[in-house]
Amino acid sequence: MKRANNVAAASHHRPGGGFQNPWPGSALHGTRGLLKWMLTRSRRPELQPAEKTSSAGARPDASSREPRITWIGHSTFLIQAGGLNILTDPIWSDRASPVSFAGPRRIAPPGVGFDDLPRIDITLLSHDHYDHLDRQTVESLIARFPEMTWMTPLGIADFIRSRGARDVRELDWWDETTAGESRIACTPAQHFSGRFPWNRNATLWCGWTVRVAGFSLFFAGDTALHPEFESIARRFGPFDLAILPIGAYEPRWFMRPVHMSPEEAVQSLVALTAARPGHRCTMLASHWGTFRLTDEPVDEPPAFARAAWTRANLPSGNLWIFTHGETRVLN
Ligand code: ZN
Ligand code: ZN
Repeated sequence: MKRANNVAAASHHRPGGGFQNPWPGSALHGTRGLLKWMLTRSRRPELQPAEKTSSAGARPDASSREPRITWIGHSTFLIQAGGLNILTDPIWSDRASPVSFAGPRRIAPPGVGFDDLPRIDITLLSHDHYDHLDRQTVESLIARFPEMTWMTPLGIADFIRSRGARDVRELDWWDETTAGESRIACTPAQHFSGRFPWNRNATLWCGWTVRVAGFSLFFAGDTALHPEFESIARRFGPFDLAILPIGAYEPRWFMRPVHMSPEEAVQSLVALTAARPGHRCTMLASHWGTFRLTDEPVDEPPAFARAAWTRANLPSGNLWIFTHGETRVLN
């Protein structure tokens, strides 16, 4: 593994342990802000799980030679390229929560049933929040694919290893590693972590880049808009595909330091392509339409993303907003 080794790269390490966002204006709201949001939040009835859509229950073909990507839901994607099957932030549970009886409930079924997954070679985890690191899904994956390689940001490997996984690699921002024919790097993100109130920011959060079979993609994880997108593209790009979060952004006064809006997702796509103006990069929307975590209506993010895309004068075919279970060929 190639370890990043410079002072700037270490400024996200909190003195005394844990992690922080290193950029100006990236401080999170504390407990008072959280309470204010909780108290002022408009009360909406919990949405009921949606009926299965026609695309749900897709069965990815394990033998296709064309590189492809399938949206399973939220930030869970299946990337198939170079003979590898790669999952991002896998969650098949009904709730993104520490307990099965409460917490944000799934409003769309997984686009691919767990039992319909092909052999998985690599899983990329962006951080430890419940909608990205789901204990039950992790355990099911380890039981079914014991040989799989897990890639995590700093502080999460123990969670995976203690459940029986053998090949777990923990990376810091800017670290790079190889698996099979792929090169994979861990990249900065502006977010936070913690599964309980008492361990906030004890583990790192990140995005991932994957270069495989002549194809290059960026998976942003959960992030706000931050100043490093252009550097990420210079170091690990240019990218053919950027998976960017478009949901969980309202109210802005509270979410801005941790989640980008659809408009900001388009701005980060522009930053990712700034180094190579002629290179076309497709944006694929993640983190919406699956769990309702914040205050915006569930169908708002795609509409806002399309409007921002048009305003930015970007080629209409290069904004991908999938339905659950949808697959497209990468070329
Ligand atoms: Zn998160
Ligand atoms: Zn999230």
